[in-house]
Amino acid sequence: MQESATLALNARAKQMAAEGKTVYNLTAGELATDTPHYIQAAVAKELSKNKYTPVAGLPELRQAIAEHTTDFYGLDWIKPENVVVTGGAKPAIYAALLALINPGDEVIVPVPAWVSYIDLIELVGGVVVEVPLTEEYDLDVAIIKAAITPKTKAIIINSPHNPTGAVFSQTSIKELAATTDDIYVISDDIYATLVFEDDFEPTPKAGFNKLVIINGFSKSQALTGWRIGYLIADKTVASAATSLLSHITGNAPLPSQYAALEAMKGHDQPPASTLKALIDQKEIVTKGLENAGIKHNIPGGAFYVFLDLRELTNDSAEWCERLLTETGVALVPGEAFSAPGFARLTFVADETVLKKALEQIKKFVGAAK
Ligand code: PLP
Repeated sequence: MQESATLALNARAKQMAAEGKTVYNLTAGELATDTPHYIQAAVAKELSKNKYTPVAGLPELRQAIAEHTTDFYGLDWIKPENVVVTGGAKPAIYAALLALINPGDEVIVPVPAWVSYIDLIELVGGVVVEVPLTEEYDLDVAIIKAAITPKTKAIIINSPHNPTGAVFSQTSIKELAATTDDIYVISDDIYATLVFEDDFEPTPKAGFNKLVIINGFSKSQALTGWRIGYLIADKTVASAATSLLSHITGNAPLPSQYAALEAMKGHDQPPASTLKALIDQKEIVTKGLENAGIKHNIPGGAFYVFLDLRELTNDSAEWCERLLTETGVALVPGEAFSAPGFARLTFVADETVLKKALEQIKKFVGAAK
Protein backbone atom coordinates (compact mmCIF):
# COMPACT_ATOMS: atom_id res chain seq x y z
CA MET A 1 0.00 0.00 0.00
CA GLN A 2 1.21 3.49 -0.92
CA GLU A 3 1.04 6.44 1.45
CA SER A 4 -1.85 8.81 0.59
CA ALA A 5 -0.48 10.76 -2.41
CA THR A 6 -2.10 14.01 -1.31
CA LEU A 7 -0.61 13.83 2.20
CA ALA A 8 2.80 12.87 0.77
CA LEU A 9 2.82 15.78 -1.68
CA ASN A 10 1.64 18.23 0.93
CA ALA A 11 4.50 17.09 3.18
CA ARG A 12 7.01 17.45 0.33
CA ALA A 13 5.83 21.00 -0.49
CA LYS A 14 6.09 21.93 3.21
CA GLN A 15 9.60 20.44 3.36
CA MET A 16 10.68 22.50 0.31
CA ALA A 17 9.30 25.64 1.96
CA ALA A 18 11.19 24.79 5.18
CA GLU A 19 14.39 24.59 3.11
CA GLY A 20 13.82 28.21 2.09
CA LYS A 21 12.41 27.60 -1.41
CA THR A 22 9.45 29.65 -2.63
CA VAL A 23 6.57 27.21 -2.72
CA TYR A 24 2.92 27.77 -3.65
CA ASN A 25 1.38 24.78 -1.97
CA LEU A 26 -1.98 24.08 -3.61
CA THR A 27 -2.13 20.40 -2.60
CA ALA A 28 -3.83 20.52 0.79
CA GLY A 29 -7.21 18.97 1.52
CA GLU A 30 -8.08 21.40 4.29
CA LEU A 31 -9.14 24.96 5.04
CA ALA A 32 -6.46 27.44 6.01
CA THR A 33 -8.41 29.04 8.90
CA ASP A 34 -7.86 28.34 12.62
CA THR A 35 -10.29 26.47 14.86
CA PRO A 36 -13.44 28.65 15.08
CA HIS A 37 -13.52 30.62 18.36
CA TYR A 38 -16.92 29.28 19.44
CA ILE A 39 -15.50 25.77 19.28
CA GLN A 40 -12.34 26.71 21.17
CA ALA A 41 -14.45 28.32 23.91
CA ALA A 42 -16.86 25.37 24.22
CA VAL A 43 -14.11 22.74 24.33
CA ALA A 44 -12.05 24.74 26.85
CA LYS A 45 -14.87 24.20 29.40
CA GLU A 46 -14.64 20.42 29.03
CA LEU A 47 -10.89 19.89 29.28
CA SER A 48 -11.04 18.32 32.74
CA LYS A 49 -13.00 15.41 31.26
CA ASN A 50 -10.73 12.57 30.31
CA LYS A 51 -12.48 9.20 30.44
CA TYR A 52 -13.40 6.78 27.67
CA THR A 53 -16.81 7.44 26.18
CA PRO A 54 -19.05 4.77 24.66
CA VAL A 55 -17.31 3.58 21.47
CA ALA A 56 -20.03 5.04 19.23
CA GLY A 57 -19.77 8.44 20.94
CA LEU A 58 -21.34 10.56 23.69
CA PRO A 59 -25.10 9.89 23.80
CA GLU A 60 -25.87 13.62 23.57
CA LEU A 61 -23.69 13.94 20.46
CA ARG A 62 -25.30 10.94 18.74
CA GLN A 63 -28.68 12.46 19.59
CA ALA A 64 -27.66 15.87 18.17
CA ILE A 65 -26.30 14.28 14.99
CA ALA A 66 -29.45 12.18 14.55
CA GLU A 67 -31.65 15.27 14.95
CA HIS A 68 -29.57 17.42 12.62
CA THR A 69 -29.25 14.80 9.88
CA THR A 70 -32.95 13.90 10.03
CA ASP A 71 -33.56 17.53 9.13
CA PHE A 72 -30.66 18.06 6.73
CA TYR A 73 -31.36 14.93 4.68
CA GLY A 74 -35.12 14.81 5.13
CA LEU A 75 -34.87 11.15 6.24
CA ASP A 76 -37.13 9.78 8.97
CA TRP A 77 -35.20 6.68 10.08
CA ILE A 78 -32.10 8.22 11.64
CA LYS A 79 -32.04 7.60 15.40
CA PRO A 80 -29.06 7.88 17.79
CA GLU A 81 -28.42 4.13 17.44
CA ASN A 82 -27.83 4.63 13.72
CA VAL A 83 -25.02 7.11 14.40
CA VAL A 84 -21.41 6.07 15.07
CA VAL A 85 -19.00 8.87 15.93
CA THR A 86 -15.46 8.22 14.67
CA GLY A 87 -11.99 9.75 14.76
CA GLY A 88 -12.47 11.51 11.39
CA ALA A 89 -14.33 10.49 8.25
CA LYS A 90 -11.55 8.09 7.23
CA PRO A 91 -12.19 5.60 10.07
CA ALA A 92 -15.92 5.97 9.36
CA ILE A 93 -15.34 4.81 5.78
CA TYR A 94 -12.97 2.07 6.91
CA ALA A 95 -15.40 0.77 9.55
CA ALA A 96 -18.31 0.85 7.09
CA LEU A 97 -16.30 -1.09 4.51
CA LEU A 98 -15.09 -3.59 7.11
CA ALA A 99 -18.67 -4.13 8.22
CA LEU A 100 -20.07 -4.51 4.69
CA ILE A 101 -17.47 -6.13 2.48
CA ASN A 102 -16.53 -9.79 2.39
CA PRO A 103 -13.40 -10.81 0.47
CA GLY A 104 -14.15 -10.76 -3.25
CA ASP A 105 -17.18 -8.43 -2.97
CA GLU A 106 -17.14 -5.70 -5.59
CA VAL A 107 -17.38 -2.00 -4.79
CA ILE A 108 -18.05 0.47 -7.59
CA VAL A 109 -16.03 3.67 -7.48
CA PRO A 110 -16.73 6.43 -10.00
CA VAL A 111 -13.43 8.01 -11.05
CA PRO A 112 -11.76 10.41 -10.70
CA ALA A 113 -12.11 9.56 -7.01
CA TRP A 114 -10.63 10.65 -3.72
CA VAL A 115 -7.35 8.81 -3.02
CA SER A 116 -8.31 6.63 -0.06
CA TYR A 117 -11.43 4.82 -1.36
CA ILE A 118 -9.45 2.44 -3.53
CA ASP A 119 -6.83 1.59 -0.91
CA LEU A 120 -9.46 1.11 1.81
CA ILE A 121 -11.59 -1.20 -0.35
CA GLU A 122 -8.50 -3.28 -1.17
CA LEU A 123 -7.48 -3.27 2.48
CA VAL A 124 -10.74 -4.97 3.46
CA GLY A 125 -10.38 -7.56 0.67
CA GLY A 126 -12.90 -5.97 -1.71
CA VAL A 127 -12.53 -5.67 -5.46
CA VAL A 128 -12.55 -2.13 -6.82
CA VAL A 129 -14.64 -1.61 -9.96
CA GLU A 130 -13.79 1.80 -11.39
CA VAL A 131 -16.34 3.49 -13.64
CA PRO A 132 -15.81 6.89 -15.27
CA LEU A 133 -17.76 10.00 -14.38
CA THR A 134 -19.05 11.92 -17.41
CA GLU A 135 -16.83 14.58 -19.04
CA GLU A 136 -18.73 17.14 -16.86
CA TYR A 137 -17.95 15.07 -13.74
CA ASP A 138 -21.48 13.85 -13.20
CA LEU A 139 -22.56 10.27 -12.39
CA ASP A 140 -23.00 8.17 -15.51
CA VAL A 141 -25.80 5.95 -14.29
CA ALA A 142 -25.97 3.82 -17.47
CA ILE A 143 -22.31 2.88 -16.98
CA ILE A 144 -22.86 2.25 -13.26
CA LYS A 145 -25.86 0.03 -14.03
CA ALA A 146 -23.78 -1.98 -16.49
CA ALA A 147 -21.07 -2.44 -13.86
CA ILE A 148 -23.42 -3.99 -11.26
CA THR A 149 -22.95 -7.76 -10.98
CA PRO A 150 -24.20 -10.33 -8.46
CA LYS A 151 -20.97 -9.67 -6.54
CA THR A 152 -21.54 -5.90 -6.23
CA LYS A 153 -22.00 -4.94 -2.58
CA ALA A 154 -21.70 -1.17 -2.67
CA ILE A 155 -20.93 2.02 -4.56
CA ILE A 156 -19.12 5.01 -3.03
CA ILE A 157 -20.13 8.46 -4.17
CA ASN A 158 -19.06 11.88 -3.01
CA SER A 159 -20.75 15.20 -3.86
CA PRO A 160 -19.42 17.91 -3.68
CA HIS A 161 -16.62 15.87 -5.07
CA ASN A 162 -12.96 15.52 -4.30
CA PRO A 163 -10.89 15.96 -6.53
CA THR A 164 -13.05 18.05 -8.89
CA GLY A 165 -15.30 20.18 -6.67
CA ALA A 166 -18.20 19.02 -8.88
CA VAL A 167 -21.73 18.67 -7.54
CA PHE A 168 -23.58 15.74 -9.10
CA SER A 169 -26.88 16.59 -10.81
CA GLN A 170 -30.15 15.80 -9.04
CA THR A 171 -31.25 13.86 -12.13
CA SER A 172 -28.29 11.50 -11.98
CA ILE A 173 -28.59 11.03 -8.20
CA LYS A 174 -32.29 10.18 -8.51
CA GLU A 175 -31.53 7.76 -11.34
CA LEU A 176 -28.88 6.16 -9.14
CA ALA A 177 -31.38 5.78 -6.31
CA ALA A 178 -33.74 4.00 -8.70
CA THR A 179 -30.97 1.61 -9.80
CA THR A 180 -29.39 0.61 -6.51
CA ASP A 181 -32.08 -1.08 -4.41
CA ASP A 182 -29.92 -4.17 -3.84
CA ILE A 183 -26.57 -2.55 -3.12
CA TYR A 184 -25.35 -0.15 -0.47
CA VAL A 185 -24.81 3.44 -1.52
CA ILE A 186 -22.06 4.93 0.61
CA SER A 187 -22.51 8.68 0.36
CA ASP A 188 -19.46 10.61 1.50
CA ASP A 189 -20.95 13.98 2.40
CA ILE A 190 -17.88 15.55 3.95
CA TYR A 191 -18.20 18.66 1.71
CA ALA A 192 -22.01 18.93 1.88
CA THR A 193 -21.98 22.28 3.70
CA LEU A 194 -19.23 23.79 1.54
CA VAL A 195 -21.35 24.58 -1.50
CA PHE A 196 -21.56 27.59 -3.78
CA GLU A 197 -25.02 26.93 -5.23
CA ASP A 198 -28.29 27.88 -3.50
CA ASP A 199 -30.27 24.95 -4.85
CA PHE A 200 -27.87 22.24 -3.62
CA GLU A 201 -29.54 19.07 -2.30
CA PRO A 202 -27.37 16.64 -0.34
CA THR A 203 -27.14 13.21 -2.01
CA PRO A 204 -28.89 11.10 0.72
CA LYS A 205 -32.07 13.18 0.26
CA ALA A 206 -32.80 11.13 -2.86
CA GLY A 207 -33.81 8.30 -0.50
CA PHE A 208 -31.68 5.22 -1.13
CA ASN A 209 -32.83 1.77 -0.09
CA LYS A 210 -29.51 0.78 1.55
CA LEU A 211 -27.61 3.85 2.59
CA VAL A 212 -24.49 4.62 4.59
CA ILE A 213 -23.78 8.31 5.17
CA ILE A 214 -20.23 9.41 5.89
CA ASN A 215 -19.70 12.87 7.27
CA GLY A 216 -17.56 14.83 9.69
CA PHE A 217 -16.28 18.15 10.92
CA SER A 218 -12.87 18.24 9.23
CA LYS A 219 -13.95 20.40 6.34
CA SER A 220 -17.08 22.20 7.63
CA GLN A 221 -15.43 23.40 10.85
CA ALA A 222 -11.76 23.39 9.76
CA LEU A 223 -11.03 20.61 12.27
CA THR A 224 -8.90 18.25 10.17
CA GLY A 225 -6.32 17.77 12.90
CA TRP A 226 -8.91 17.13 15.63
CA ARG A 227 -10.07 13.88 14.01
CA ILE A 228 -13.82 13.81 14.30
CA GLY A 229 -16.42 12.39 11.93
CA TYR A 230 -19.32 9.94 11.88
CA LEU A 231 -21.21 7.35 9.92
CA ILE A 232 -24.93 6.76 9.76
CA ALA A 233 -26.27 3.36 8.76
CA ASP A 234 -28.95 0.79 9.48
CA LYS A 235 -28.68 -0.77 12.93
CA THR A 236 -26.89 -3.92 11.75
CA VAL A 237 -24.12 -2.01 9.97
CA ALA A 238 -23.87 0.64 12.71
CA SER A 239 -23.50 -1.97 15.42
CA ALA A 240 -20.98 -4.05 13.40
CA ALA A 241 -18.96 -0.87 12.78
CA THR A 242 -19.09 -0.08 16.52
CA SER A 243 -17.81 -3.56 17.44
CA LEU A 244 -14.97 -3.23 14.93
CA LEU A 245 -14.03 0.25 16.13
CA SER A 246 -14.05 -0.97 19.73
CA HIS A 247 -10.91 -2.91 18.80
CA ILE A 248 -9.33 -0.37 16.45
CA THR A 249 -9.67 3.18 17.77
CA GLY A 250 -12.14 2.96 20.64
CA ASN A 251 -14.09 6.19 20.94
CA ALA A 252 -13.27 9.33 18.94
CA PRO A 253 -11.17 11.88 20.88
CA LEU A 254 -13.30 13.32 23.69
CA PRO A 255 -12.44 17.04 23.23
CA SER A 256 -13.26 16.63 19.54
CA GLN A 257 -16.63 15.13 20.43
CA TYR A 258 -17.38 18.28 22.45
CA ALA A 259 -16.28 20.34 19.43
CA ALA A 260 -18.74 18.40 17.27
CA LEU A 261 -21.50 18.92 19.83
CA GLU A 262 -20.91 22.66 19.67
CA ALA A 263 -20.84 22.62 15.85
CA MET A 264 -24.18 20.80 15.88
CA LYS A 265 -25.76 23.71 17.76
CA GLY A 266 -25.28 25.72 14.56
CA HIS A 267 -26.29 22.78 12.31
CA ASP A 268 -22.65 22.27 11.38
CA GLN A 269 -22.66 25.31 9.13
CA PRO A 270 -19.21 26.65 8.35
CA PRO A 271 -18.61 30.30 9.32
CA ALA A 272 -20.10 32.62 6.65
CA SER A 273 -16.65 34.17 6.23
CA THR A 274 -15.26 30.79 5.19
CA LEU A 275 -17.79 30.35 2.41
CA LYS A 276 -17.33 33.91 1.21
CA ALA A 277 -13.54 33.46 1.06
CA LEU A 278 -13.92 30.18 -0.87
CA ILE A 279 -16.19 31.78 -3.44
CA ASP A 280 -13.71 34.65 -3.96
CA GLN A 281 -10.80 32.21 -4.22
CA LYS A 282 -12.69 30.06 -6.70
CA GLU A 283 -13.23 33.16 -8.90
CA ILE A 284 -9.55 34.11 -8.81
CA VAL A 285 -8.44 30.61 -9.70
CA THR A 286 -10.91 29.86 -12.47
CA LYS A 287 -10.15 33.25 -14.11
CA GLY A 288 -6.40 32.66 -13.71
CA LEU A 289 -6.64 29.21 -15.31
CA GLU A 290 -8.62 30.61 -18.20
CA ASN A 291 -5.95 33.24 -18.63
CA ALA A 292 -3.26 30.56 -18.65
CA GLY A 293 -5.18 28.64 -21.31
CA ILE A 294 -5.78 25.59 -19.11
CA LYS A 295 -9.07 23.73 -19.45
CA HIS A 296 -10.86 23.26 -16.12
CA ASN A 297 -14.31 22.84 -14.59
CA ILE A 298 -16.25 25.38 -12.51
CA PRO A 299 -16.56 23.82 -9.04
CA GLY A 300 -19.93 23.82 -7.31
CA GLY A 301 -18.50 23.10 -3.86
CA ALA A 302 -15.54 21.94 -1.74
CA PHE A 303 -12.28 23.79 -2.51
CA TYR A 304 -10.87 22.02 -5.52
CA VAL A 305 -10.73 22.63 -9.23
CA PHE A 306 -9.62 19.95 -11.71
CA LEU A 307 -7.22 20.91 -14.48
CA ASP A 308 -7.50 19.06 -17.80
CA LEU A 309 -3.91 18.79 -18.99
CA ARG A 310 -4.52 16.37 -21.85
CA GLU A 311 -3.76 18.98 -24.50
CA LEU A 312 -0.58 20.03 -22.72
CA THR A 313 1.09 16.74 -21.82
CA ASN A 314 0.73 12.99 -22.02
CA ASP A 315 2.28 12.56 -18.59
CA SER A 316 0.52 14.62 -15.92
CA ALA A 317 2.68 13.24 -13.08
CA GLU A 318 5.83 14.43 -14.85
CA TRP A 319 4.14 17.77 -15.73
CA CYS A 320 3.27 18.38 -12.05
CA GLU A 321 6.79 17.38 -11.01
CA ARG A 322 8.36 19.90 -13.44
CA LEU A 323 5.85 22.56 -12.40
CA LEU A 324 6.92 22.07 -8.78
CA THR A 325 10.68 22.02 -9.36
CA GLU A 326 10.70 24.86 -11.94
CA THR A 327 8.11 27.23 -10.43
CA GLY A 328 7.41 26.07 -6.87
CA VAL A 329 3.70 25.49 -7.59
CA ALA A 330 2.56 22.21 -6.03
CA LEU A 331 -0.54 20.49 -7.46
CA VAL A 332 -1.64 16.86 -7.08
CA PRO A 333 -1.35 14.91 -10.35
CA GLY A 334 -4.52 13.17 -11.53
CA GLU A 335 -2.79 9.77 -11.23
CA ALA A 336 -3.53 9.97 -7.48
CA PHE A 337 -7.25 10.00 -8.30
CA SER A 338 -7.21 7.36 -11.08
CA ALA A 339 -7.33 10.21 -13.61
CA PRO A 340 -4.04 10.54 -15.50
CA GLY A 341 -3.99 13.62 -17.74
CA PHE A 342 -5.43 15.86 -15.02
CA ALA A 343 -4.30 17.66 -11.85
CA ARG A 344 -6.07 18.89 -8.72
CA LEU A 345 -5.62 22.44 -7.47
CA THR A 346 -6.78 23.38 -3.94
CA PHE A 347 -7.75 27.03 -3.82
CA VAL A 348 -7.54 27.67 -0.08
CA ALA A 349 -4.76 30.22 -0.06
CA ASP A 350 -4.80 33.98 0.22
CA GLU A 351 -5.39 36.10 -2.84
CA THR A 352 -1.74 37.12 -3.29
CA VAL A 353 -0.48 33.54 -3.14
CA LEU A 354 -3.15 32.35 -5.56
CA LYS A 355 -2.44 35.15 -8.02
CA LYS A 356 1.31 34.55 -7.90
CA ALA A 357 0.85 30.80 -8.31
CA LEU A 358 -1.38 31.35 -11.32
CA GLU A 359 1.17 33.71 -12.89
CA GLN A 360 3.77 30.98 -12.47
CA ILE A 361 1.45 28.40 -14.04
CA LYS A 362 0.77 30.73 -16.96
CA LYS A 363 4.50 31.31 -17.55
CA PHE A 364 5.20 27.58 -17.31
CA VAL A 365 2.50 26.73 -19.86
CA GLY A 366 3.63 29.59 -22.14
CA ALA A 367 7.27 28.48 -22.05
CA ALA A 368 6.28 24.93 -23.01
CA LYS A 369 4.41 26.08 -26.13
N1 PLP B 1 -13.68 11.98 2.25
C1 PLP B 1 -13.22 12.87 1.37
C2 PLP B 1 -13.89 12.98 0.05
C3 PLP B 1 -12.13 13.67 1.67
O1 PLP B 1 -11.69 14.57 0.79
C4 PLP B 1 -11.49 13.52 2.93
C5 PLP B 1 -10.29 14.30 3.29
O2 PLP B 1 -9.57 14.79 2.49
C6 PLP B 1 -12.01 12.58 3.81
C7 PLP B 1 -13.10 11.82 3.45
C8 PLP B 1 -11.38 12.34 5.15
O3 PLP B 1 -11.80 13.21 6.11
P1 PLP B 1 -11.19 13.16 7.61
O4 PLP B 1 -10.02 14.06 7.62
O5 PLP B 1 -12.31 13.63 8.47
O6 PLP B 1 -10.80 11.76 7.88
